[in-house]
Amino acid sequence: MNIDLFEKYESNVRGYIRSFPTIFVKSKNATMWDHQGKAYIDFFGGAGSLNYGHNDPAIKRAIIDFIERDGVTNALDKATDAKYLFIKKLQETILQPRGLDYKVQFVGPTGTNAVETALKLARKVKERSKIVSFTNAYHGHTLGALAVTGNEFYHDDFYGVPLNVTKMPYDNYFDPTGEGQMDSIDMMRQYYEDASSGYDLPAGIIVETIQGEGGINVASVEWLQKLDKMCKDLDILLIVDDIQVGNGRTGNFFSFERAGIKPDIVTISKSIGTGLPMAIVLMRPDIDEWSPGEHTGTFRGNSLAFVAGATALERWETDEFSKEVAEKGKKVEARFQAIAERHKDLISDVRGLGMIWGLQSEVEDFCNEVSAEAFKRGLLAETAGADDQVIKFLAPLTISEEELNKGLDLLDESVDAAAA
Ligand code: PMP
Repeated sequence: MNIDLFEKYESNVRGYIRSFPTIFVKSKNATMWDHQGKAYIDFFGGAGSLNYGHNDPAIKRAIIDFIERDGVTNALDKATDAKYLFIKKLQETILQPRGLDYKVQFVGPTGTNAVETALKLARKVKERSKIVSFTNAYHGHTLGALAVTGNEFYHDDFYGVPLNVTKMPYDNYFDPTGEGQMDSIDMMRQYYEDASSGYDLPAGIIVETIQGEGGINVASVEWLQKLDKMCKDLDILLIVDDIQVGNGRTGNFFSFERAGIKPDIVTISKSIGTGLPMAIVLMRPDIDEWSPGEHTGTFRGNSLAFVAGATALERWETDEFSKEVAEKGKKVEARFQAIAERHKDLISDVRGLGMIWGLQSEVEDFCNEVSAEAFKRGLLAETAGADDQVIKFLAPLTISEEELNKGLDLLDESVDAAAA
């Protein structure tokens, strides 16, 4: 096998292959191997789709058993036992213990499909067209999801976006210290309550509680609570996009739990299918205003993803898993802080929560160099942010202590090499 085949026959749009230019053939928990037998510690984690690791033994067993008993793999949105068990597990293990009353809608296979669905639903329920999203947001690649995405790189060549969207400043936009100034929620509230604005209310506001692609920007609990309260007071639907930071990434199953808020709509994908295609929308039952068949899609039910996802949710039956995530996260934070201390001239910030962390550099291309040095040494670490100004940690939550230590050592070496 030769990597040149991709250059020759695969579209130029291919992306991650450029950060990690090799052919991967095997993977186990947080380690991947390429066709030449070289091992890589995976701090990229399938951009958040591998929270439960590669080829987790229980998940793998469940998939093999399902195939061996000739379970129904393709069902569109017919009822199957696999879907039944997934819904039951989601309700009983995740939603009900958290006091969350949501119905689930299965949408197309990828996160973007969940975002599109949420935007359509908000417009239908509120009978308004406008959506508000935030600077540096990432919500997906199709035209509607793109319209609420705040990185112009994805927009520039596509001649305008088809939605009525206003992008507002994310938390700490005006004042990174967070001290004393009016923030974007105060600003929105004042504007929308002012008759001279024409009461131009949005149907919904879509937000990531931590912006992953945007550069690991962590919204404060206070800001999220203010946003939630404004939405309630002004009759706007709050949509939390938990596609990247849900599924336990922050230590809680949902990222918004730390703010004690209950969004009207939640989009979930990536690790909900443990890396197999699944995207869902959770909605308050009273806003489930869909008519049968009104929003369709052939791949709304991948049974292998249901089986794998239901098995993964078993980890949430006790609070051991979230404790494990918190412990590992502390270790990552400490090592990231140590790197920043050592390279004060190059690293300007360390940000994150739970098992999502970022190291920021203002020096152009520094993070891309770190990523390239890491790859050479056997570590997969991607950049994030509009200018690739952040090195991102998104390893499987199940990463072993040995893999984590090794990966962090390799990251240390890679930062030192890029700094040299
Ligand atoms: N929302 C967020 C917060 C994401 O991080 C992503 C993917 N990076 C998406 C939506 C889109 O998901 P997908 O790439 O599966 O369409």
